[in-house]
Amino acid sequence: MTSDLSTPAAPDGGAESGAVLDGNAAAGDFAGILASDPTTVTVRCGSCGSTQAFGQLSACLGGPGTVLRCRQCEAMVARVAKTPQGTWLDLSGSSSWLFLPAPGPA
Ligand SMILES: [Zn+2]
Repeated sequence: MTSDLSTPAAPDGGAESGAVLDGNAAAGDFAGILASDPTTVTVRCGSCGSTQAFGQLSACLGGPGTVLRCRQCEAMVARVAKTPQGTWLDLSGSSSWLFLPAPGPA
């Protein structure tokens, strides 16, 4: 497991109080939307094109929504926000998501 997450402070002017975690921390918010376990997904950043496992993305919780950021370029890759109108899913920062086939019964 990745235990060394010496995350540099992101000087992007964000005043969010939520700590920056990894994508696994955001899995619960996405699991209710996606049909499969988000931690098995590989996401390609729409900004720099790097591919990262969902769990390797930087996750900002505690704001108005859950934001996932690219570890390479810190661009926003995905965002989910729950509002009284419903749940917003913004994937505009990613170019593709790879869902692995569900493992069959062994
Ligand atoms: Zn990127």
